[in-house]
Amino acid sequence: MTGRRGIPHIAVDSCKGCALCVSVCPESVLTIDDARVNLKGYYPVSVEAVENCIACLSCALICPDVVFTIERVVDQQGG
Ligand code: SF4
Ligand code: SF4
Repeated sequence: MTGRRGIPHIAVDSCKGCALCVSVCPESVLTIDDARVNLKGYYPVSVEAVENCIACLSCALICPDVVFTIERVVDQQGG
């Protein structure tokens, strides 16, 4: 079985914490990290469940601040 997987890379200090990406992620991968503040003074987005990412790019497309780079990986599982 082959599935599409992704690893979101986040430019933390470019994030303004608007949570648009959190709202559009279909797999609940992302969260706002209210335990830290970035250089802009915002609570930045962080990856909460990387194993759920399907590399759909929705977060990258909606983000107004080009915070995301999505690394695509092929997940191959023999059966
Ligand atoms: S690429 Fe898709 S599944 Fe992965 S974090 Fe972004 S919105 Fe969520
Ligand atoms: S959409 Fe962009 S700026 Fe807004 S919280 Fe997500 S990564 Fe940060």
